[in-house]
Amino acid sequence: MLVVIDGLTPAMLEATDTPALCFLLDHGSYRRAVSTFPSLTPVCLASIATGAHPDVHGIPHLVWWNRREQRLVEYGSSFAALRAAGLAQGIRDTIVNLNEQHLSKQAETIYEALEDCALTTAAINITTYRGRHRHLPTIPGAPAVNGPRRFFFYSLYESDQTGAPLAVLGRSVGSIDAYAAAVGRWLVTRDGFDLLVFYLPDYDFASHALGPDAAHEALARADTSIAALFAAAGGPDEFLERYAVVLCSDHGQTHVRQAVRLDVDGALVTASNRAAMLYGSDPRALAAALDGEPSVGVAAFLEDGKVVARRGGDEDLGLLDEHPDGLARMTAALRNPNAGEVLVSAAPGWEFVDLAGRHHTGGGSHGSLVLADSEVPMLTVGLGDPPASIVGIKSLLLDHFGVAVARRAA
Ligand SMILES: [Zn+2]
Repeated sequence: MLVVIDGLTPAMLEATDTPALCFLLDHGSYRRAVSTFPSLTPVCLASIATGAHPDVHGIPHLVWWNRREQRLVEYGSSFAALRAAGLAQGIRDTIVNLNEQHLSKQAETIYEALEDCALTTAAINITTYRGRHRHLPTIPGAPAVNGPRRFFFYSLYESDQTGAPLAVLGRSVGSIDAYAAAVGRWLVTRDGFDLLVFYLPDYDFASHALGPDAAHEALARADTSIAALFAAAGGPDEFLERYAVVLCSDHGQTHVRQAVRLDVDGALVTASNRAAMLYGSDPRALAAALDGEPSVGVAAFLEDGKVVARRGGDEDLGLLDEHPDGLARMTAALRNPNAGEVLVSAAPGWEFVDLAGRHHTGGGSHGSLVLADSEVPMLTVGLGDPPASIVGIKSLLLDHFGVAVARRAA
């Protein structure tokens, strides 16, 4: 079972006294691991699902310019940003096109890999879900999508009738995670999967509002959702007899003190949270235009295939070494064909406002290369050593099921 608590920082998990999480920590192996860049949910969940960075999976940011279709794609930086980009298109991009069109066909998801080996995968609410099974929507007019065999997505796609409550209303009080718990309980009761990906997004929502070290209530609700799975198995020990577990988050969070709208002459800027992309024909000039901008931690671009990192007029790859896997993560992000020509990682404390001018000043945000945005808790139970990066989860799971070995032999 893969449990992803969106936006959970290592420090919050390490200090928790909630019972289900403490039980897993007591029985597993734990380390801090590194996310991808930009450390934003659609990018990170694609990395978790495919075991690859954005150069392979193709998802560049929460908001980006689709060169082929000559239009913006907005996955929901905020509801207002979604509305500014066109609500119907935004919802379709987030739910359908991300998986059907934007996620590279060259990248293989964990669901595809395991189901090709006749294993049953299940996913609840995770936005990167591409699989081999066609699912019709519960609402007329929405398109059919390809997901894992057992697939539950915010009440919109439900492969099985579980009796779970509606997932859409009242997100701030945790209705999404309550829905996940109800579906998860149903699945565990039937032992209806080989792999279950159990995604809990509500924590990130609370942490954006309250800051990265204050969302204790949301963490307690996530714990309750996990405890519901234990109960469905007959108790925590019985649960671990049946399932190995990976528990992690997709990215961290840091405090936001100031927000800015990033405007650069000659560039189309897509910005949200703590990362921005500049699309334009002269990347060096665009990066140089940011030299006096205090919100820019580092700007980077490719020149003759090589990464150039720049801050305040200085060009030095050492600027990337200030951050965990900084050079490798920036390189992979720049080599994504959907990325802008210049990528910007925000300076500590800064956020870039989204299309609608929304930001999280006084709360938390993420997206940059900075350690606290990039670091995630990584706990494994019954799976050996936890991976050092979120891109290592897929191979850990394939090894567990013996799939990687079989494929290499083939
Ligand atoms: Zn977030």
